[in-house]
Parts: sequence; structure tokens; C-alpha cells
Amino acid sequence: KIVVKEIKKSFKDLPVVGGVSLDVRDGEFVAIVGPSGCGKSTLMKIIAGFEQPTEGEVRIDGMVRRGPNPKGISISQHGSVFPWLTVQQNLMFGLTGDGHGDKSALADHYAEMVGLKGFESSYPHELSGGMLKRVELARALVVKPEILYMDEPFSALDALMNLKMRTELLRILAEERHTVILITHDVEEALFMADRILVLSPRPTRIQATFEVPQPHPRKLSQPQFQEMKE
Ligand code: ATP
Ligand code: MG
Repeated sequence: KIVVKEIKKSFKDLPVVGGVSLDVRDGEFVAIVGPSGCGKSTLMKIIAGFEQPTEGEVRIDGMVRRGPNPKGISISQHGSVFPWLTVQQNLMFGLTGDGHGDKSALADHYAEMVGLKGFESSYPHELSGGMLKRVELARALVVKPEILYMDEPFSALDALMNLKMRTELLRILAEERHTVILITHDVEEALFMADRILVLSPRPTRIQATFEVPQPHPRKLSQPQFQEMKE
């Protein structure tokens, strides 16, 4: 469980986050929407532990966190695929230590899951933008994080690829229950993906409104129904 308590953040004299509190239950999918520049990425970095708040705290399972959360993986707004590694090597990157079995087989499995079969030994510069985004998604999922922090992971994609990525992610989440926080400026995307939507105000940002998405959610559809939706 993630508990965010009265987070405030200023950069020098610029107040960016103006007091945000929120709770995310295990297995819940929360989307955070807000106008450009309101402080969404800043808030996400604080929740994920990559940035320190000026005031307030973030608790994961009751413990105050000051650094990056080892149970969580972030997909940043600006992308972070390693250009000098192949798709397979990028996916294997986070699989440190034992207990993962055959790492290259696991990497290939996740590459296939996001539709990158046959591209395992390709380098990032040989892929399209949409494929790169899918490498990032697979690289985050392969380590089976308890929490997935996603900052506009689909925003640079065309409409069709966007839909494909969303359904792909929902299909994966239906099998493996991750807790997800998704930042987006796309209300429709939030509605499509999340259980709950938090709307942020302009800077210094606060939560302006909360919406529970009606159930049953598309995510809870059966496998055949999902297959139909994808086709
Ligand atoms: P977008 O929708 O465009 O991604 P955002 O809501 O994610 O925007 P942030 O990236 O959080 O917005 O930035 C919010 C404000 O904080 C901006 O005015 C930005 O200039 C400022 N800001 C962000 N990071 C820093 C930093 N490290 N130092 C100084 N100012 C910063
Ligand atoms: Mg941002």
C-alpha cells in the first residue's frame, strides 16, 4: 500500500506541488491527470523516491521511503532504453542475482508478450518509436515489480499503437496483478485504464477531483473477451 501525505515541493521560489495526499491499495490502478506543467512528473518522481519532497512523506507498506523503492519500477516520460544494448540485453538488464531462471529465455518471453518477437537481437536505433516504448514496458514488467510507476508511457505514440499498448498492458495486468500509478494528460486513456482517476489543478498542484471508474472494468474481462477487443 502506498500512502502519500501532504506532499509539497518547491524548486527555489517556484512552488510546484502544493500539498497532495493520496492512498493506493495493492493491485489498484490509479491514473493521475492534469494540465501540462502542473507538476505531474515532479509528483511521480517524489512518489517513486527519485526526488525529495520539500514537505510531507511517502510510505510504502507503512515504512517512510526516502530513496527509490526497490519494489517499484518507473517508466519515465523521456524514455531510458540503453542504446548500446540489444532488445534482449535491455530486458535482461534488471535481472540481477539468481532466482530468475534462464534470464535470456525470460527476456525473450516478455519481448514476445509486447509483440517484439524476432527483434531480440536488434539495437534500439533499428526500432521505431512505438517499438522502443514496448521495449521499455517489457523491461519494466520482466522484473515483476509490485509497483509500476508510469509517466505518460504512451503519449508519443500514434492512435493505433497507443491502443495496442494499452490493451497489451491491460492483458498483462489481468494475469499479473501489479499496483499501477499512471500519469497522463489524456482523460480518455485514464478512463480506459484505471480504477480511479485523480485530477490535478494547475501549479502549485493539488488534487482537484477524484473519480471512481465504474465496474466491471475492461481490465476484468475474460481472456476471450480481451482477444476480441484486441482484434
Ligand atoms: P508535462 O505535462 O509537460 O509533462 P508536468 O505536469 O509533468 O508537465 P513537471 O515536469 O513536474 O510538470 O514540471 C512542473 C514545473 O516544475 C515546471 O514549471 C518545471 O519547470 C518545474 N521543474 C520541474 N523539475 C524541475 C527541476 N528539477 N528544477 C527546477 N524546476 C523544475
Ligand atoms: Mg511530465
